[in-house]
Amino acid sequence: MTDKAPAAEVDVVLVGAGIMSTTLAVFLKELQPHLRLEIIERMPGEAQESSNAWNNAGTGHAANCELNYTPMRPDGSVDIAKALEVNVEFDLSRQFWSYLIRKGAIASPDNFIHPVPHMSFVIGADRQAFLKKRHAAMSAHHCYHGMDYSEDHARIAEWAPLVMEGRDPKQAVAATRIVSGADVNYGALTSNLMGYLKRQDRFAVHFSQAVTHLHRRPGGGWRIDVKDEISGAKRSIDTRYVFLGAGGAALTLLQKSGIPEAKGFAGFPVSGIWLRCGKTEVVERHTAKVYGMAASGSPPMSVPHLDTRIVDGKRSLLFGPYAGFSTKFLKHGSLLDLPLSLRPDNILPLLAVARDNFPLTEYLVGQVLQSSAHRFKALREFYPTVKESDWELDVAGQRVQIIKADRKHTGVLEFGTEIVASADSSVVALLGASPGASTAVWIMVHMLENCFHEQLVGHWVPKLKEMIPSYGHDLKTDAALTERIRKETAEVLGLHTA
Ligand SMILES: Cc1cc2nc3c(=O)[nH]c(=O)nc-3n(C[C@H](O)[C@H](O)[C@H](O)COP(=O)(O)OP(=O)(O)OC[C@H]3O[C@@H](n4cnc5c(N)ncnc54)[C@H](O)[C@@H]3O)c2cc1C
Repeated sequence: MTDKAPAAEVDVVLVGAGIMSTTLAVFLKELQPHLRLEIIERMPGEAQESSNAWNNAGTGHAANCELNYTPMRPDGSVDIAKALEVNVEFDLSRQFWSYLIRKGAIASPDNFIHPVPHMSFVIGADRQAFLKKRHAAMSAHHCYHGMDYSEDHARIAEWAPLVMEGRDPKQAVAATRIVSGADVNYGALTSNLMGYLKRQDRFAVHFSQAVTHLHRRPGGGWRIDVKDEISGAKRSIDTRYVFLGAGGAALTLLQKSGIPEAKGFAGFPVSGIWLRCGKTEVVERHTAKVYGMAASGSPPMSVPHLDTRIVDGKRSLLFGPYAGFSTKFLKHGSLLDLPLSLRPDNILPLLAVARDNFPLTEYLVGQVLQSSAHRFKALREFYPTVKESDWELDVAGQRVQIIKADRKHTGVLEFGTEIVASADSSVVALLGASPGASTAVWIMVHMLENCFHEQLVGHWVPKLKEMIPSYGHDLKTDAALTERIRKETAEVLGLHTA
């Protein structure tokens, strides 16, 4: 690369080599194989930020166990609408991954997905009553058939012995369990997708190269400025479409695009810390992802959970995440990320969120200040007989919560995923944190429907139905199709059916 290198011309540039860009790239190559695609990644390999196995919890989020998706209504009943949405979104991922395994694009499910039951666990009579109602509402729906509920210490001990050992036998507890849950190594999955992409014509990935700017071209499309992180050399790429799959840094690049749709967005970074245990005697006695209830004021992604992880064939336990604060938008980012993202159009929304979400601020300050003793106290609630020396601290990935200006120019804190596109869909950015990698496939389908409607309706639907057989049907209302899809994908992915 030299300063004078002429701009290369491609159809789509995807910034970042995490689960999102690689999923989209595979989609595009399946739907239109002759497209010329390039992925530009600033790190030396793929999946080194949030998509890396140890930077996220690896939960195949199907809203089985995450209590934040089932709020209590003012009348005391439990609303399962959001949980159902997330639940069937994960079915799209299961179908897409199964399609890729069946066609040989991914060799086997063993290195990225494993069956691990999903459990919710609560302490106290009020929470017990909530979980019982939640279970009644959920297990009555076909999407959650087979979900078990118990208040019985002995029964819960069969499901998760470490959670019950040493616990006061009179303590009011309750748990739900569903065996169809999964632990997913999103880093390995990203590498599988990248491996498949590398075998395709008209595809290139460039590692250790960072996108530094993007400019609209007068005749349409974009000129992307790229800097080699090792040699410092610069070059440009001309492209018709840009996908900003840059994780936490997508906001920075979106702002650089200058599109009016970027105005009013701000980012609030939340870092994470885990406790990790690899001791065989401990690890072998826990096979579940056990989610508790979030502390008051905490963001949904900070719900504590004690998880079985299977990474590179080795089992471990993970507990957390504990929240932290850093001004970086990426784990390997710069402390200037947050200050440099401040603009006249997003300062007010950011300040308004700080003002209106005092419990969140209080929670984050408390988390940042907490000592090792506090962290083990939280773990002891899940695992009363824990031995501290079996565990070590590890730093998780960085999340950037999105703050959006509302019509009154104050701010709204968004916990979901936000797809921001220019009016002509030539640049699309993926912002936000949750439910994350699990729903990458649903996000891409949603994006194709919204930003590439013409191509989808005109050409892509038959292929999309081959990749995702339930496409066009609502699994929330079609019990027979849900059962068939889950049975088929469980067989290919090696998962259990509930
Ligand atoms: C603590 C934690 C726990 C989580 N738990 C779960 C979970 O249990 N289940 C789940 O489904 N999801 C979970 N998530 C969310 C999930 O990890 C993310 O949604 C997902 O990994 C995001 O993928 P991505 O491809 O958008 O971003 P990333 O994986 O972060 O990839 C973005 C890439 O862009 C690159 N990049 C950035 N800027 C540039 C630039 N200028 N030029 C070139 N490259 C650039 C980065 O280096 C990076 O490789 C969790 C996240 C965190 C932080």
